[in-house]
Amino acid sequence: MTTLSASAATVDQRIDELAKQVEPSVIACRRDIHQHPELGNRETRTSKLIADKLKSLGIEVKTPIAHTGVVGVLRGGKPGRVVALRADMDALPVTEQVDVPFKSMVRTTYNGQEVGVMHACGHDAHVAILLGVAEVLSKVRDEIPGTVVFLFQPAEEGAPEGEEGGAALMVKEGALKNPKVDAVFGLHVTSRYPVGEIAWRPGGMMAAVDSFKIKVHGKQTHGAYPWLGIDPIVVASQIVLGLQLIPSRQLDTTLAPSVVTVGAIHGGVRNNIIPDDVEMLGTIRSLDKAMRDDIHVRIKRTAEDIAAAAGAKAEVAITAGYPITYNDPALTEQSVPTLRRVAGAENTAVVNPTLGAEDFSFYQQNVPGLFFWLGIRPPNQTPEEAPSNHSPRFYVDESGLGLGVRALAHVAVDYLRGQGAGGRAQ
Ligand SMILES: [Zn+2]
Ligand SMILES: [Zn+2]
Repeated sequence: MTTLSASAATVDQRIDELAKQVEPSVIACRRDIHQHPELGNRETRTSKLIADKLKSLGIEVKTPIAHTGVVGVLRGGKPGRVVALRADMDALPVTEQVDVPFKSMVRTTYNGQEVGVMHACGHDAHVAILLGVAEVLSKVRDEIPGTVVFLFQPAEEGAPEGEEGGAALMVKEGALKNPKVDAVFGLHVTSRYPVGEIAWRPGGMMAAVDSFKIKVHGKQTHGAYPWLGIDPIVVASQIVLGLQLIPSRQLDTTLAPSVVTVGAIHGGVRNNIIPDDVEMLGTIRSLDKAMRDDIHVRIKRTAEDIAAAAGAKAEVAITAGYPITYNDPALTEQSVPTLRRVAGAENTAVVNPTLGAEDFSFYQQNVPGLFFWLGIRPPNQTPEEAPSNHSPRFYVDESGLGLGVRALAHVAVDYLRGQGAGGRAQ
């Protein structure tokens, strides 16, 4: 065992040295992608850049997958399991307001509107980090006991209307097969945490997101004689309030938080006509699978029964979105020593879940996965000052990217060794 641990330690050191060496090219790559952002399912330039880089490293490349996705397969020099690492590639319809030399000036049409395009969620950093990991691991491939699969995935923020895309389509098109993936890791840069920090949560870390549409059918009449019709606006108002009672009064709030939000109400054309119909749109966020199903049942019942009480009718349609980003507890426990070693224990934290969502969850539905946060907030900013992801002022402190490269490279190799670094044999 002594020889094994000695050689493992040497490989770990080598990974750290290589990560340091590739850091300038990771930053250059991130800036290049940042200046040329592409929306979901349209990442053609990014896709080519990724495929070219992987090929230059001698990594087997499969593309296209899920429209513009790229899968790289690095077979290590020793037999073993298969670990996947994922980066998302898409930008957002946001006009950049950050004053950097590589600021995005790209404009395009999105849903019929002219918009700016910006990597306002940091997926440019994710691609650059994962290419850095690919370079590092390609140089120690003989020492890798198993296979590393690099998943470069389009359209995390959602595919254009009428198109499939993202992680769900990657899985559907076989990204986790041939070779069959045993576990998957991914990270997300965030301005909630400063440069140098890594954070995670076992179990539900990010929410399931579902959308709903409720149509309330009343009976149109004069605004002065409501008793001659059925007022869908008053019924819709009752439903909005009724829905708020689901998370606050009907669910065990100590088990997991949840949110039901009505974000749009449409109905009526003028002040003195009670309309026939009102339509409402909303979002549901949940962190527990059983609770998610329960909320769906309760939304339907609440809307239908409130409408029925008024003699109206409510039609409820719920569309499932991304599942819960669920960090496999055993995989998390196994990987935590690695994350602590790489970042320094004092720079790591188990954090509260968020009600934002991530389509990384689709991989986790198929294989055990761990998703973690990588801090990129400049050290001189407070969390309140730092613009959040999706802001036109979202800013990535690039000095945090090197830690991302080391974290992904080490969790992958330690997983293939079948051990957390803390449990390395002596
Ligand atoms: Zn985002
Ligand atoms: Zn994102």
